[in-house]
Amino acid sequence: MGIVFDIKRGGVKDGPGIRTSVFLKGCPLRCIWCHNPESQAAEIQRAVTTDEVCGREMSVDEVMGEVLRDAVFYRTSGGGVTFTGGEPMLQFDFLKALCAAARAADVHVAVDTSGYAPWDRFAELLPLVDLFLYDLKCMDSERHVRFTGVPNELILENLRRLDVAGAKIWIRCPLVPGLNDSDSDLAAIRAFTSALRNMEKQEICPYHPLGLEKCAKFGLASRYAEKALPTSADLARWRQVLCG
Ligand code: SF4
Repeated sequence: MGIVFDIKRGGVKDGPGIRTSVFLKGCPLRCIWCHNPESQAAEIQRAVTTDEVCGREMSVDEVMGEVLRDAVFYRTSGGGVTFTGGEPMLQFDFLKALCAAARAADVHVAVDTSGYAPWDRFAELLPLVDLFLYDLKCMDSERHVRFTGVPNELILENLRRLDVAGAKIWIRCPLVPGLNDSDSDLAAIRAFTSALRNMEKQEICPYHPLGLEKCAKFGLASRYAEKALPTSADLARWRQVLCG
């Protein structure tokens, strides 16, 4: 059994093809811009302004029952299931059982991770996962601590090791104007990722302020109160420096 806080069907962003995303609760990071702050605590939570509850206990069979409803779409689109969070590696035994069940059902498996977990867990998942969606937030470890609550050495080391092991990787960069998007920040990410041999794609995830509303709903303190979206000039510069 594990705690799942959402299952979204029909997505096209979290990996190739049409996908179902399964959101596992709990995260060891505390990103100040987090768009899913209600996912951070490992336990089931109640909203303070509505009767909404975040998280419910589910078995592997129950989750797979939902996932397999769209099996025909996965086959026709080259899609599958994406396990995300929170940080899905936190509920490791549950995640591993889900990956094994999806693999047994011949469903493409992606794991969306912050990378902040012991290497042994990644090593155990390697034979069960087709694609890692891997966040890179800031290459400077001191600022990484300030932005996320944890240093980045383990994250970078796990990424190097996944790459050497031959895992297929899509890098995702959550970018927040004025925080982690200077030209030197982007150049440092680019220098790191250009040395990876198995990175298939590098994506930008622009800041959006959805987390603020969720903080209010669940009675959580928000540490970053910017309400504006990145401008089109921000997006153009990010693409040019990071991917151009
Ligand atoms: S890693 Fe993701 S879920 Fe965890 S705090 Fe950061 S943005 Fe939120």
